[in-house]
Amino acid sequence: MELKKQDNIAAGLVSDRFPTVSGIVIQITYYRKAAIPLLMVRTVNICPTSYAYFKMDCMIKGCDGGGFDLTSVVINMIKAHKKMKSGALNCSGTADAIESDHARIEYAAVIQYKRVSAVKS
Ligand SMILES: [Zn+2]
Repeated sequence: MELKKQDNIAAGLVSDRFPTVSGIVIQITYYRKAAIPLLMVRTVNICPTSYAYFKMDCMIKGCDGGGFDLTSVVINMIKAHKKMKSGALNCSGTADAIESDHARIEYAAVIQYKRVSAVKS
């Protein structure tokens, strides 16, 4: 938890890093390698006062250091002023006790932007 707190602080606030963004909603569906692969569905709501931290933890026991990093997805969307994007990611965890394809997510990210006020010349 302590490490995560530091990560959050290092990431900075959404309003500072991405001043044009008014909100981000990411729906994440977690899958594992099992007979019933669907693990859980969660929705992450990020507002301008949230930390700009988009790395999601892996839900699999024994997976240390793994997870799903959506940072580049979000940054690329904001750069392109894109409102919606969906895709899939595999867990980056490589612990010996777990298989490399033990977990993956499907995500759907929606970003809302502030209305750009007219620039006075
Ligand atoms: Zn994992």
